Amino acid sequence: LTQLFRPLDMLGMVYRTIRQGLIDMAEMFRLLDTEVEVPDRPGAPALVIRQPGIVFDNVVFGYESERMILKGLSFEVPAGHSVALVGPSGAGKSTIARLLFRFYDPLSGRILIDGQDIRDVTQASLRAAIGIVPQDSVLFNDTIGYNIAYGRNGAGLEDVASAARGAALMGLIDRLPQGFDTEVGERGLKLSGGEKQRVAIARTLVKNPPILMLDEATSALDTRTERDILATLRQVSAHRTTLSIAHRLSTIADADTILVLSEGRLVESGSHQGLLKIDGLYAEMWARQAAEAETLGEAAE
Ligand code: ADP
Ligand code: MG
Repeated sequence: LTQLFRPLDMLGMVYRTIRQGLIDMAEMFRLLDTEVEVPDRPGAPALVIRQPGIVFDNVVFGYESERMILKGLSFEVPAGHSVALVGPSGAGKSTIARLLFRFYDPLSGRILIDGQDIRDVTQASLRAAIGIVPQDSVLFNDTIGYNIAYGRNGAGLEDVASAARGAALMGLIDRLPQGFDTEVGERGLKLSGGEKQRVAIARTLVKNPPILMLDEATSALDTRTERDILATLRQVSAHRTTLSIAHRLSTIADADTILVLSEGRLVESGSHQGLLKIDGLYAEMWARQAAEAETLGEAAE
């Protein structure tokens, strides 16, 4: 996440909050609402969600004018489908997430949600429609209930309990001395990486967004915890338009469509089996990760 925060160094409050480790990506975007450089168009209407498909149409973007990160990227996530995005580190995967949230605007090309150019709708409505589960979720120094309810203004106890069930958190909460009122975070009970991700998932469920974005949501977890969390995420994403960015390819092998990004362009797309047949970059990444897994497995024995 360090890269993501680089342009924010100037924004003292945001930066300090991040430094205190009290913030996650969604919160950062919320804070940015007040500081944001990308303004709403005067009189912009709210995003209307009927069939929340996502379209990137020939999107060109770079943080610096001399170095383009996305060089004419086009892809589609049909409403209700799960599309996975893979590619080498630095390929621009998280940049795609940032553009979708309208953290930046493309230099050329368009991004559409449900047929509406995201530049033409209010950012509040855009961000309300998208739930993010980032790689490392950070908890507030408050109760676990607060940390879940935080997903949506005005969430009640019922919403929190139902989200906790959806995120398979009830086992943990039943074991906690004060249930939802247990203090967590740096100054409270320390949760494991997997438990923190479950809180992030519950937070997203409280928000109940039609669009879900998972940016390496399980990459910081050990393989077993990852498997458990992936099972939960699969349920959560079942009826939502989902874009999942993955490092470990084994975690996305069952996606409807896999997009392979390299040097700012879409170089391959298809199902896991289809991409293996093409025998290109995806097949190469798959073989390398399989070899690494084997080496790690042997080392563990
Ligand atoms: P990925 O998620 O695929 O690993 P990113 O989308 O985070 O890659 O980054 C793509 C490229 O853009 C990288 O080379 C990264 O260094 C660069 N980059 C990311 N954020 C910024 C920024 N705020 N300013 C300048 N360059 C950036
Ligand atoms: Mg990334």
